Amino acid sequence: MFCTQCGQSLEANLNFCPRCGTSLNGATPRASKKLLRPLKDNWIAGVCNGFAQYFAIDVTVVRLAWLATLLLAGTGLLAYLICWFVIPRESLA
Ligand SMILES: [Zn+2]
Repeated sequence: MFCTQCGQSLEANLNFCPRCGTSLNGATPRASKKLLRPLKDNWIAGVCNGFAQYFAIDVTVVRLAWLATLLLAGTGLLAYLICWFVIPRESLA
């Protein structure tokens, strides 16, 4: 098969053209993700929840990892506070 956009010959199992990124086989390109602090289901400020959504992993894993850094080196608290200020709140819209 060929890319409809740039004419590159492609393997049939590809979902996206490696040359120009055009979606093939009706695949939709992944929407650009934003790191946000969600409004719901937060312990403190939603920093762990935001990272969990961004990386599509369990929020508990993020919290455990964060607690580990907190207990081992004490840097987790500072990192949390920085993220709290830097990462924007999810909008209500
Ligand atoms: Zn292409």
